[in-house]
Amino acid sequence: MTETQPVLSVVIPLYRESMHLSVTIEEIIGVLKSLVESFEIVLVDDGSPDDTWGAILEQKKRFDQIQGIRLSRNFGKEAALAAGLEYARGSAILVMDGDLQHPPALIPDMLKLWRSGADVVEAVKRSRGKENFISRLRSQMFYGLFTRLTGVDLHGASDFKLMDRRVLNAWLRLYERNLFFRGMNAWLGFRRVQIPFDVAERAGGQTGWSSIKLLKLAMTAVTSFSSAPLYLMILVAVVFAALALPLGLQTLFLKIRGHAVDGFTTVILLILILGSMVMFGIGLVGVYVARIYEEVKGRPRYVIAEQVK
Ligand code: UDP
Ligand code: MG
Repeated sequence: MTETQPVLSVVIPLYRESMHLSVTIEEIIGVLKSLVESFEIVLVDDGSPDDTWGAILEQKKRFDQIQGIRLSRNFGKEAALAAGLEYARGSAILVMDGDLQHPPALIPDMLKLWRSGADVVEAVKRSRGKENFISRLRSQMFYGLFTRLTGVDLHGASDFKLMDRRVLNAWLRLYERNLFFRGMNAWLGFRRVQIPFDVAERAGGQTGWSSIKLLKLAMTAVTSFSSAPLYLMILVAVVFAALALPLGLQTLFLKIRGHAVDGFTTVILLILILGSMVMFGIGLVGVYVARIYEEVKGRPRYVIAEQVK
């Protein structure tokens, strides 16, 4: 690979995508060939258990523009993306998935918008493709909650984005360990243009996101973007304090009148409700403490095992 800076870097995180990698690469290169004078494709193998790394080496033999990075284990898409972004050298950087769910046919329009002055071109999901009711509902709930808590609207947002070098340089200065690319990118600002797209079907294989992984990402997203849940706890405490006042007065009144034995049900209910509220509050604070702990440790976001240039 020449040392000159390519016009475009395409960054693709890969997890168990060996089966259809050649199709993906061919399609992307087919689009790029006539579009930009120079480009590189940064493929990051996120510690796949299948032979994704072998597939990357094979593509490297066919196309000199391929750059391969293999992480030492599965660090998750966000970390793999960070590895690719830190490596990318282009004047514009395109981020997309490796399963052709982000249609390469959209790239010409995205580049055109970038050339006419947009700093970030975001592809926004018009439809979510074939997705079952549960995961649709789940993402609806997540984005609804996220928007309400953080004021950043991510409805339809995807990781299919083209950004200018300046935006990437700004992104590289966000040092947090807990990454949420979509949100961090929105936080950066700059001149943004949106372009709608329909999510295609997977080229093959299956999604690398388990429910646990998604839940973790959602937790990271909310806790790294908002401390609103902590303030919500204070609000709950205020409400309880307001209720405590009349109940306390009533109890004292009954005590003075000599009827203090009644009201066991109330006592039990109060213990149950307050107990669970207090535990919930401590747990919530714990989540934020854990976040702080992870950040303070300052471990690298990923570990690179191998690289081909
Ligand atoms: N991916 C990754 N690490 C993971 C899970 C996924 O790098 O731990 C990559 C995957 O190879 C793909 C992209 O992230 O390029 C999106 O993943 P996937 O298609 O599985 O997610 P979905 O489209 O179902 O949201
Ligand atoms: Mg996908």
